[in-house]
Amino acid sequence: MANKNLCELEFFIKEYGHLLNPEAIIKEDILRQGVFFESFTDVENFSSKSYFIFSFNIDNDNDVITKKYPEEIAIQNGPYNLKRTVISVRINKSSPYRVKYDPVANKYTLFHGGHFIGDAVFSPEKSYMLQKTPSGKSVRDVAPTIEWGYLIYLAVFRMCQYFENHNECAFCDMNSNYVSQKKANKSYSAVKSIGDIIDALGIIGSSEDSRSKAYTLTGGSIIDEVKFNGDAEIDFYVRFLEAIEDKYKGKWISKVVVQAHDTKNLKRLKDAGAYIYHTNFEVWDKRLFDNICPGKSKFIGRDEWIKRIVDAVPIFGEYKVIPNFVAGVELSSPYGFDSIDDAINSTAEGLEFFMSHNVIPRYTTWCPEKTSKLGRMGNPPAPLEYYVKLLLRWHELHYKYNLPIPEGYGEAGPGKAEFSVSAFMDAFKIGDAV
Ligand code: SF4
Repeated sequence: MANKNLCELEFFIKEYGHLLNPEAIIKEDILRQGVFFESFTDVENFSSKSYFIFSFNIDNDNDVITKKYPEEIAIQNGPYNLKRTVISVRINKSSPYRVKYDPVANKYTLFHGGHFIGDAVFSPEKSYMLQKTPSGKSVRDVAPTIEWGYLIYLAVFRMCQYFENHNECAFCDMNSNYVSQKKANKSYSAVKSIGDIIDALGIIGSSEDSRSKAYTLTGGSIIDEVKFNGDAEIDFYVRFLEAIEDKYKGKWISKVVVQAHDTKNLKRLKDAGAYIYHTNFEVWDKRLFDNICPGKSKFIGRDEWIKRIVDAVPIFGEYKVIPNFVAGVELSSPYGFDSIDDAINSTAEGLEFFMSHNVIPRYTTWCPEKTSKLGRMGNPPAPLEYYVKLLLRWHELHYKYNLPIPEGYGEAGPGKAEFSVSAFMDAFKIGDAV
């Protein structure tokens, strides 16, 4: 199995190496299959997975969740002469990708089966992660940083109300991940306080080792106002946004991930200080959207969601509306396409529609977490061929519509990109990087 898998990887690097860099291809393969750590001790000094929204682990059993693993690794060198490539860690005990400690060279290395891929380093621990807010909350729990410290992730409501009547997105394990975190960490809370967020940001902002440039304000969907003391979703998130922007205006690029809202609410977000609006579309095909995202379909509807994305452009500006796709779910059972090309053509239709309206859709590589609906059905990751073809189509369309590199994602290109959950930023052909 591992050899067949490796042959496939080498085939795509050889066949598509003139169009896509090997960093992007290997990164997609590691993201889709996950990684496991061998000969690994948890005394290492690294920034550990903070489980800030989804588990992003293929294996998310208790023994995995309670052990310390790095949030991200960066790989480089090796037989493909890789430039530094930052990759989100998704634990999968049976992944062919294994990180091992080499005691002779005193370094970590990444192997695919017995085949050396490159040297590995772990995301560094930041001084602010170990600090507490005046109320005693851990900064890592309240405001973890990812993308090698570039992005502060503020998931201020750690559950999603779509789960209440089984209307959650089929790829999502947000609520079970919250329950796991709560069991492991009694002080972990579902709803963050504005005061803690402000204090945690103050600690990060004044830390010498902080290199954060953006924050994402997000959380689960709110559809039941009664449970939020009469607050609608927009009231809840706007209050956080206003408090952050009042205190720290201009310090970070603000990105907000919420449901698709009408223009009145979009203006409220903009007025409160949202710079980039992410309202995630997840999957383009209508039948798949309705089945894989039943909450989005039921409470807002696909056509209305699309309309609101386009309506957001005059409010936030061209290229500042960035909906996410969960790339790969188009091939999941029982609803998905049978062929890779059908899946690509469908998603490319959605990418092109949005790009032609000066929206920049982006994607994350699907991680089939075992406690999501699709994971419980035993879905494997989508094939590498799909991700290679998607990278090519995304960049072809991005070039066709002459779009800029999206803001709020750090640098682009091999050796520079730090966006860790898909390779679309690595695949830009930009100058030479170290
Ligand atoms: S909207 Fe969907 S993906 Fe987002 S938290 Fe809710 S169920 Fe999960």
